[in-house]
Amino acid sequence: MANLPEEVFKSLLEKKNLYIRPGLSDGGYVLSLKVNNDIKKGERLQILTVSESDLFGEASELIGILAHELAHVFAGHIGSSREIEREADEIASSWGFNAEIKDSRGI
Ligand SMILES: [Zn+2]
Repeated sequence: MANLPEEVFKSLLEKKNLYIRPGLSDGGYVLSLKVNNDIKKGERLQILTVSESDLFGEASELIGILAHELAHVFAGHIGSSREIEREADEIASSWGFNAEIKDSRGI
C-alpha cells in the first residue's frame, strides 16, 4: 500500500479499528494495517477480508482488491450496492490503481 497517495494513507491510518485479514478460513496470514486496542463496546470494527485464492493469485489482482476495499473504508461506505461498488472502483482508480482494478475485475 506504499503506492497510495500520501493523504489517503494518512487518512486510512487515522481510521480507528481498521484491520485487514485474509479469508476467515485461514488462520495464518495477516495483512495488518492496525488494530486499535481500546475499541469500545458498540464501536464498529472494520475488517477487510481477502479470500485465500485472492491472496495467492496474481499480485496485481490482490492489489486491485485491497485498493478497492480501502476505497470503501476511505469513503466511509457501509453496505454494498452497484453504485457503492462502482464508486469504490472509481476512487481506487483515482489513486492510480486503474490497471489493478481492471485486473481484479478480470477486465
Ligand atoms: Zn466493494
